[in-house]
Parts: sequence; C-alpha cells; structure tokens
Amino acid sequence: MNKYWSETIKGIAPYVPGEQPRAGRLVKLNTNENPYPPSPEVLEAMKAAVTDKLRLYPDPNCSRLRETASRHYGVPAEQIFAGNGSDEILAFCFKAFFDPGDTILFPDITYNFYEVYGELFGVSYRTVPLTESFEVPIEGFFTDNDGVILANPNAPTGKTISLEDIEFLIKRNRQAVVIVDEAYVDFGGESSIGLIPKYDNLLVIRTFSKSRSLAGLRIGLALGQRNLIEALIRVRDCINCFTVDWIAQAGAIASLEDTKTFTHYIGRIAATRSRMTEHLRESGFHVIDSSANFLMMSHPVIRAKALYEALRERNIFVRFFPKPRIDNYLRVTIGTDEEMDIFYDALMDIVMATN
Ligand code: PMP
Repeated sequence: MNKYWSETIKGIAPYVPGEQPRAGRLVKLNTNENPYPPSPEVLEAMKAAVTDKLRLYPDPNCSRLRETASRHYGVPAEQIFAGNGSDEILAFCFKAFFDPGDTILFPDITYNFYEVYGELFGVSYRTVPLTESFEVPIEGFFTDNDGVILANPNAPTGKTISLEDIEFLIKRNRQAVVIVDEAYVDFGGESSIGLIPKYDNLLVIRTFSKSRSLAGLRIGLALGQRNLIEALIRVRDCINCFTVDWIAQAGAIASLEDTKTFTHYIGRIAATRSRMTEHLRESGFHVIDSSANFLMMSHPVIRAKALYEALRERNIFVRFFPKPRIDNYLRVTIGTDEEMDIFYDALMDIVMATN
C-alpha cells in the first residue's frame, strides 16, 4: 500500500470486471456484450467523425445526440444527459445527489458498482435482500433513505420489477432520488421513462453497451427532470466536460436512428435466450427466467465454480460470482446461436464426465 494513497482508496475493494481474455479462438459469454455488430451506418458515421472532427474538442453538451435521443425516447433534449458509459453516469449520480453520511438503498444482489461507488464517495448504503426467488421486494425500500438504486431488469438475475411497483416506490420515496438503471431493458421488461413527467425524483439510466452493440464506444444516457440533469451537468463540468468524444457522439446518433438492425438483433437474442433456457432446463439445470441478454443457471449436483473452471479450460468464458446466494450460479451471456451451441455441448460433456 502506498503511503501517498488516500485512506478511502486504501480501504476500497474496486469493481472487478469480467475477464477480457486475449487468446485466439474463444467463446466469450462473460460480460454481456452483444454478439452482433453495430450496423454499417453506425460504422460510417464514426468513420466520418474520425475524418472530420478529431482536431476539435467534442461538443461537451452532446447537443445533436441529445436531440436525436429526445425524438427517440419522447423526452425533451434538456432532460437528457450523455456520459462515457452508464458507469460514469452512475458515478456522477453519487456526487450529484448524495453527501457523505447519506444512506442509500439497493438490493443485496445487484450490479456491484453501486457498492463500490458508495465506498468511494463515502455514501452509506443498506442492502435490501431479494426474495427466495430473487424478486426485488419493493416494500423493503420504504424505510428512511436518501436514495434508491435499482437495476431493471436486475443484474445478474435478469428479473424485472413491474412499472407499477417502480411507480409505487417512487411515490413512497419523494424525499429521495430514485435511480432506475435500465442497462438491459431493451431485452425485456418495461421502461420507466414514461414516468419522468410525473416525478421529479426519478432518473432513468440507459447504456449503448448491450442492446446497441457499442460497449467499446463508452456511451450512456440519463433521462430525468431538469433539476436532476442540471446536477449531473454540474458534476461533469467540475471533473471533465469532454467525457463523450466525437466518435461516440456520432456512433450513438446513428445507432438511435437505425431501428431496423437494432430490432432484428434484439429479436435474435431473445429467440436464442428462449431456446437455450429450454435446452438447459431439459438437461436438469435450474435457469432463472431472464428478461436480459444473459441467463443465470445452476446444476443440481455440480458446483458452479467447477463448471466455470471446466468451461474456462475449454476457452469458454462465463461469469461466476463468489457471493452468498449466487455462488452456485453461472451467468452466461446470450451469444450467437453457434456460440451457444459450443457452450451447451461443452457443458453437457462436462456434466457427463462428472457423473
Ligand atoms: N448497469 C448495469 C446493471 C450493468 O450490468 C452494466 C454493465 N456491466 C452497466 C450499468 C455499465 O454499462 P456501461 O458502463 O458499459 O454503459
């Protein structure tokens, strides 16, 4: 530990992302990336930005992107904020809405970064246990708090919270900001964006990393009433106003304008998800119903860690979380049909060899 480090940094366990292996042929189903490419129009728009724009600082306000997003989501452009991936927006939220000593709530099993940001920014958090069947129990969020963060669909369970429950929760927490992280909502579930005109304490966060195949570009959006968006702008402008570069802005605009490729690939991923869920269940696996682009599964006999390691030896990467209640599950991203078949065949081989 370096003596120059702050006490906060010394004491913190950073977020551990899924592995990004470099080996030649591998099946990578561990970080919920989209197996299909962005559309040619997106690539063309990004190339044009490289040719025309690199000499210039990017538009800090992402004005064209916000106007395009406004048409797409039916929310005024001044109620939209763009950031360098939704992770950055989440980090900005911790600075924008909470003070050290405030207490926020999120489920005990959810996206790990909420906890890491809590530690980093000195914001206390209480976790609300998911039910036996991994549902989010909304009544657990009616206790005194300064903020609530929910992933909907939740990660890594893939389970959704109904819009009715979200609205009830917002109403019961008017003293606090309710952040709904909709990283996976395009794959299933209901968006809370329609509730924004009614509630000035709701912030919805979206990413282009999953359904829009742009994880490498780093782009996300926050949508909410002006009071919340202004706080995010203030934080950004105190840290780095140029977090979204020209290429990301151009790619994101083209992506929002291209509904056809987007809808086509979403449909394919959903079909592969149903097929895989069915096959795995037929083979004795417990699979949680998923509304996202991943499946959580467990085998009745073989431990998830052993399966994870055996798959890894075959260059098939899935996610294993050494965390209470989910440490006997594997989280597997929905890849192409070909990738899923390789995964499934390997899994069956491993199960046969273990029996
Ligand atoms: N929220 C959730 C629930 C996620 O799973 C992820 C991806 N790991 C993110 C946010 C961050 O996505 P990005 O920073 O790529 O937009």
